[in-house]
Amino acid sequence: MKVLIADDDALSRKILEDCLSEWGYDILMANNGNEAWDILGNSDRPNMAVLDWMMPGMDGVEICRRLRLLSLPNYVYVILLTARSKREDVINGLESGADDYIIKPFNREELKSRLKIGQRIIELEQRILRLASTDYLTGLMNRRAFLERLERELNRCEREISNMGIIIMDIDHFKRVNDNFGHQVGDLVLQELSGTLVKLCRVYDFIGRYGGEEFIICLPGADKWNTYKIAERMRSTIENNKIFLSDKASSISITASFGISSVEPGQIKSADRLINEADEALYRAKDQGRNRVVMYISELA
Ligand code: GH3
Ligand code: MG
Ligand code: MG
Repeated sequence: MKVLIADDDALSRKILEDCLSEWGYDILMANNGNEAWDILGNSDRPNMAVLDWMMPGMDGVEICRRLRLLSLPNYVYVILLTARSKREDVINGLESGADDYIIKPFNREELKSRLKIGQRIIELEQRILRLASTDYLTGLMNRRAFLERLERELNRCEREISNMGIIIMDIDHFKRVNDNFGHQVGDLVLQELSGTLVKLCRVYDFIGRYGGEEFIICLPGADKWNTYKIAERMRSTIENNKIFLSDKASSISITASFGISSVEPGQIKSADRLINEADEALYRAKDQGRNRVVMYISELA
């Protein structure tokens, strides 16, 4: 775990650095508050910070205050380190947004234990974030996580003037699977299918469970024909795959319909529009008899 150490006193910095590296932390060093603030401003900021209170430029308390005003995607656990030991100092430090407070000269074992508390909290946060973005049945991204990632990829696509493809897939007559074999078999089919999709994706593609038996795939850098080819490969693999039931003797086969849309280099499309287009193409695929891939074609094209 990455930890920022910010202290203007060289000896203090050295002692902290020696301790934290011995305990296995990855360390980032700042000689003053402004340097610390710069490091915390990076998108790959550390998860924990040990900040000296008194520093030239921005002090530790000021850093805490500012940090808590930002709505960062990940929490930064802050331990304030200071020679100020009066009760009102402790209260002021904690009120500024620090999570913990250690009085100098610090005791090694105490600092070690307090860092462990921070690590536990950060790990808990990471676990909660993972659970909140994962679909429990398939292990894929859930809809919200997918849409967040899609927004980021769209921005990148716009910046880099590149392509992007979207595939929306819906299992054909899935209700029949549930009706004929039961909900548990339906669940198994969804799990098997998500495994198949993952195998057919490239490393930089990402998949989400969009709804019950609907999946959505983003293919950064893929033009519409590449997207079409990949969707077609998914379609034929699903059609030819046998899904074995728990008795290992019987199996079922399913088919799926696909709608695709894309962003061409230099084209600006919102995530909503891109998804609506793929959805419209999927609707046509269903309408034309299912088990097929349909590419969105705009009215004007
Ligand atoms: P179509 O070809 O038009 O898509 O027909 P369909 O039967 O696949 O579509 P419909 O929307 O009528 O039914 C979807 C079914 O998917 C109904 C619902 O019970 C089932 N389903 C949704 N989520 C789950 C799930 O998590 N597990 C299981 N087993 N079934 C699910
Ligand atoms: Mg369906
Ligand atoms: Mg559906």
